[in-house]
Amino acid sequence: MGEKIDVLVIGAGPAGSIAAAMIHKHGYSVRVVEREKFPRFVIGESLLPRCMEVLEEVGLLEVIKTQNFQKKFGAKFMKGDKVSDFQFSDQFSKGWTWTWQVQRAEFDLALISEVQRIGVHVDFETTITDIEFFDDESSISTAQVKDGSVEKISARFVVDASGYGRVIPRLLKLEKASHLDPRKSIFAHVKDVHRDLYEEPSRIIAVLYAPGVWTWIIPLSDGITSLGFVGSFDFFDKIEGDQTQKFKACIAGNAYLKNRFGDAPLVFEPRKLEAWSATTDKFYGNGFVLTGNVTEFLDPIFSSGVMFATVSSHLASKLVVQKLRGEPVDWDNDYTNFIRHGVDTFRTFVMAWYDGTLEKIFFSKNPDLMVKKQICSVLAGYVWDQDNPFVRAHEKALRGLARLIDFQENNRG
Ligand SMILES: Cc1cc2nc3c(=O)[nH]c(=O)nc-3n(C[C@H](O)[C@H](O)[C@H](O)COP(=O)(O)OP(=O)(O)OC[C@H]3O[C@@H](n4cnc5c(N)ncnc54)[C@H](O)[C@@H]3O)c2cc1C
Repeated sequence: MGEKIDVLVIGAGPAGSIAAAMIHKHGYSVRVVEREKFPRFVIGESLLPRCMEVLEEVGLLEVIKTQNFQKKFGAKFMKGDKVSDFQFSDQFSKGWTWTWQVQRAEFDLALISEVQRIGVHVDFETTITDIEFFDDESSISTAQVKDGSVEKISARFVVDASGYGRVIPRLLKLEKASHLDPRKSIFAHVKDVHRDLYEEPSRIIAVLYAPGVWTWIIPLSDGITSLGFVGSFDFFDKIEGDQTQKFKACIAGNAYLKNRFGDAPLVFEPRKLEAWSATTDKFYGNGFVLTGNVTEFLDPIFSSGVMFATVSSHLASKLVVQKLRGEPVDWDNDYTNFIRHGVDTFRTFVMAWYDGTLEKIFFSKNPDLMVKKQICSVLAGYVWDQDNPFVRAHEKALRGLARLIDFQENNRG
């Protein structure tokens, strides 16, 4: 076993990179252990403006700026020929007005490479298989290297940023079922050969495909577009054929998608992901904190995954630094409750998307401009701005607005 390090970070995705950069910046020794060889594919290409603040604060923004990713200025929803368009420049909360649509393999590689450049040791192709925690909060982790060898890593604290790996919740049995219905996605990257024939060809679009079913269109900077369908298991089961046939049938089932992507060559055969919503009992414990997807992942509809990964990791690592300095940390109030508030706001929006409430709001005639700005700020990831009624009282605000729209439409002359 080598020398005891201050912090072991599990996973080199956005959450892991943010934690490592932040803790290293404060002079503590950090080691990142990552199961895969980078670059590696991961889904989640659309970012939210709220990520930008974190990237800037931990010193990782400049390196991403050099990557020439596709800029993203808003969120656009489509249902048939109806469009609901949100521009981040026209939002209620103060904050960033743009972000990016990124090739995640390159984005994640750029982040972790910068983390290595500033001096953090990163082991790729190494899997954390076990952790023993001690009363003084230190731990010994078992790391299995690809060649079969095993190393023991002694650390004062562990940040679990292992995403779908959910290392500590699995080891300590902290996993809890999500409140959201299980859903499935079939997606691929396609050559967007007709992109330039369309208005605003590089805009991200969420297409309302059928009740409870939607499509993401995320144009990337290299002419490739990420295209994915999300719906219930039942929706996909009813479509005949294998995964590729189902994907193609979905494209053929919508006029816009058929015109734009009907003959689009696939960059890779369609893949599937399913039942991704997950949460845990606790976001921290004796000697560890969970960040990013490990804490909770809701749904892809509002592209909130990387935003929560970066914000939670940034906050958690600030508190880890506080702890390493010997200062008291109120994990419940300063971490769990804070992150949960943001997650709860998005959960309300996710549920309202699938039960049709948001459809009513997004495509209503003559929307109130202030309300639109407030909703836009949620869509930009500013879900901690208590001045915004769609954050402060998210559920009440959305239900009330839907009732008002019903009333106005029923009484239109
Ligand atoms: C269908 C779908 C579409 C999505 N679309 C979007 C989107 O458009 N925008 C968005 O923001 N989010 C999206 N997401 C969510 C997004 O994928 C995640 O939220 C994001 O990747 C979380 O980042 P992370 O750093 O927490 O985890 P990850 O990016 O998953 O990184 C975790 C890392 O930990 C490593 N690891 C796992 N286990 C171990 C172990 N035992 N030892 C060592 N290393 C380990 C993994 O190899 C991985 O590299 C989508 C999710 C789904 C399911």
